[in-house]
Amino acid sequence: MSTPAQSVSAPAATGDDALAVLSAGVTAPLATGGEVEYAALDYAASAPVLRRVWDEVAAHAPLYGSVHRGTGHLSRLTTGVFEDARRTVAGFVGARADDRVLFTRSTTDSLNLLAAALPAGTRVFVFETEHHAALLPWAHHGHDVTWLDAPASPAEAVATAAAAFATLPAGRPALLCVTGASNVTGELWPVRELAAAAHRSGVRVALDAAQLVPHRRVDIGDLDVDWVAFSGHKLYAPFGSGVLAGRGDWLDRAAPYLAGGGATRLVTRAPGGGVAVEWAAGEARHEAGSPNVIGALAVAAACRALTDAGPGTPAGRERHLLGLLRDGLATIPAVRELSLFGADAERVPVVSFTVEGWSGDGLARALSDRYGIGVRAGLFCAQPLVRRLLGEAGADGDCEGPLQAVRASFGAGTPEEHVTRLVTAVRRLAGA
Ligand code: PLP
Repeated sequence: MSTPAQSVSAPAATGDDALAVLSAGVTAPLATGGEVEYAALDYAASAPVLRRVWDEVAAHAPLYGSVHRGTGHLSRLTTGVFEDARRTVAGFVGARADDRVLFTRSTTDSLNLLAAALPAGTRVFVFETEHHAALLPWAHHGHDVTWLDAPASPAEAVATAAAAFATLPAGRPALLCVTGASNVTGELWPVRELAAAAHRSGVRVALDAAQLVPHRRVDIGDLDVDWVAFSGHKLYAPFGSGVLAGRGDWLDRAAPYLAGGGATRLVTRAPGGGVAVEWAAGEARHEAGSPNVIGALAVAAACRALTDAGPGTPAGRERHLLGLLRDGLATIPAVRELSLFGADAERVPVVSFTVEGWSGDGLARALSDRYGIGVRAGLFCAQPLVRRLLGEAGADGDCEGPLQAVRASFGAGTPEEHVTRLVTAVRRLAGA
């Protein structure tokens, strides 16, 4: 039987071939009869599986064994696969030599883990525009949170944050959690500039890279952030894994995120009764229990595929399709695109909009039923931001159902036809 090292080394395709997805050619039934090729335009929620990811998972499946707790052949092989996945992810995000790379369940889990590990009394700064996963864990874990107003430009974001940092008492631990790309507007946030302003004030930075990492290179050292968090299922690797990578000092001093096997060095009966625990250091401290090795392998395989695709492969193609989508929607008078930083802001392929006379849910259903297009409707787990943008877009609620937007998003493997079909469908539904 082959070794895992051999089993996971799929031929290294490059360019778009490296980013082929399994869902290509899947059909969807139409309410109007017949079926059509499914246009998956909801990558920002969960992206399809890369063929490379599936192949690497399938190649390892027969060799599956326990991780960190067996001396048998497959246990040792699988432990190697798990730690190799950690090294691959570390390289992919440019982790520094003493950074920790933790496998979690998701971005939500990663940010909750970090929130649980912050020193007591940490002041946390977050823009009100964040996804709930970046907005809510801090207060939930007892920290003092300062919400920053939604900025109208990247420069205003930096100025707002810098002004807030200036109010910090000296010596108090502090953190800014900021997204790299908005899950509502797709707009890029000035991460490097925010990190520089934060560090000048002794504030650490956690980057929510859930929407950025599938589309742009994210390098911890280059951006000079302290932690980065992202999810496998948005990175074409939907096997239940996420990542938290970054500085080890607070993580190493914190109580383990979960108490259990694997996170301990020594467990004894305490002389006076009860239990005495010496917790493990390093990643093991926060990875109690049997790890999701298949999820970790899948994330690493996606990292390998994106690396093999070559620099600029997703971004260049996606920029072209994004232009087609936004230019097309802009020609439909009833459509309002939601935007914080303006039409010319740099963005990843995530576009939210409203159509006069349609509820978000109604429009999304019509797109699915009549055109085989999958988009998302709602407030996208970023309620303060979407409510604000809906107000600014003049959405007046005279359509049926609650106020909501529709979001189209795409990435690797999206054919141009899916994007042009969406524009044509919206045009027809809007009666333009
Ligand atoms: N952050 C952003 C910007 C997101 O878009 C999402 C998910 O949509 C999350 C965090 C949470 O990701 P997950 O649901 O994988 O934990």
